[in-house]
Amino acid sequence: MPKSDSAYCNDNTEQHMRSVEEAQTHILQSIQPLVATERVDLRQSLGRILACEVQVRQDVPSHRNSAMDGYAFRHIDTDIHAAFYVAGVSLAGHPFHDTLDIGQCVRIMTGAIVPTDADTVIMQEHVSHEGDLITLQRIPKPGANVRHPGEDLRAQTTLLPAGRKLNAADLGLLASQGIGEVDVLRRPRIAFFSTGDELKGIGETLQPGDVYDSNRYTLYGMLSKLEVDILDMGVIPDQPQAVESAFTRASQLADVVITSGGVSVGDADYVTDTLRTTGTVDFWKIAVKPGKPLAFGKLNAHCLFFGLPGNPVSVMATFLLFARSAILKLRGESVTDLPEYQAICDTPIYKTPGRKDYQRGICHLDGQGQWRVSSTGMQGSHILRSMSMANCFIVLPLLMGNLETGSTISIIPFRELL
Ligand code: AMP
Ligand code: MG
Repeated sequence: MPKSDSAYCNDNTEQHMRSVEEAQTHILQSIQPLVATERVDLRQSLGRILACEVQVRQDVPSHRNSAMDGYAFRHIDTDIHAAFYVAGVSLAGHPFHDTLDIGQCVRIMTGAIVPTDADTVIMQEHVSHEGDLITLQRIPKPGANVRHPGEDLRAQTTLLPAGRKLNAADLGLLASQGIGEVDVLRRPRIAFFSTGDELKGIGETLQPGDVYDSNRYTLYGMLSKLEVDILDMGVIPDQPQAVESAFTRASQLADVVITSGGVSVGDADYVTDTLRTTGTVDFWKIAVKPGKPLAFGKLNAHCLFFGLPGNPVSVMATFLLFARSAILKLRGESVTDLPEYQAICDTPIYKTPGRKDYQRGICHLDGQGQWRVSSTGMQGSHILRSMSMANCFIVLPLLMGNLETGSTISIIPFRELL
């Protein structure tokens, strides 16, 4: 972060605004990864975090085998023989058990055991044959095309370390060891609900001033990318009792509770009031746009809380900026900043200095390998269409103002996070 940003925030005592980076650091520092584990079937372990190191149980490959379809022979025989008699066949799963006399070879297929007497395999394209005789058209190097035990995995070494996020290759490695069940960290349970009397569920009739609740769907979508258990608790009306009991229930069920709406002070929301009396929650103004108000803390010793602002773009932006990495840390993943790239603006960008903007942009790499970005247009925090059109944030530092076409600016591609 540029120093001037930090200074600006700290000096801005009137509004007590925190910088994005301060808020991110504070949040991450207060999170301990979950330690509880569970044993799951190998297929179910995809994308999960390995709870403890897994060791190699047996060498892979377990036997000396051929890398080619061809013929196996003793290399030293080539000193006196150019032609070999085919004495038998070794197929994958059906080895050749006899011994080889001088000048004999075995027809062999990929993966099949190389007979004890043989040390070299010639690929079938490099021989000519007549009846049971083959003639080598070239002499391969001694030991050619033979795979040795333990070349891939050596017994008693680390197969996969604790904390590994298991991918498709890892599932294959575990299967190659005959391992059918794995101990992984428990998935965090994330409960969320929306607050506001104006919110209606799909299927309900809108009265004047009502809106359909869209935040629960954007949150559901973003959480679905994170390998967590999701608890959608619906819309909670703006009534003290309802809000309080929703918090109590959610904090008993979940590791993290996320709400949207009702964290900006001064409206008929009972979220802030309830939170001030239960748990230890801080209410922040963050020098960010969209998403200035943010509440973060704990509802009880075990349950984290994120109070995201209600506007549809603010919910998505604050989730991606603050909640996402916290949840990743909680589930045992190593957290790194989202990659930022420098892009040339293909449109002007309008910005008021004072907050760090995460505007919505459409980016692509041009023929020269240069990132280019255009604004999606109107940037209000209620313009959810801007998130749908966009594939990146355009990151505009706190003190920056308008940008002309052709300027260079940072972008954070986010398509795969939504
Ligand atoms: P609030 O943060 O509660 O003051 O809400 C700010 C704005 O976001 C208001 O226009 C709300 O109607 C709107 N809003 C709040 N929650 C939702 C939601 N779940 N879905 C769609 N819009 C919402
Ligand atoms: Mg509200």
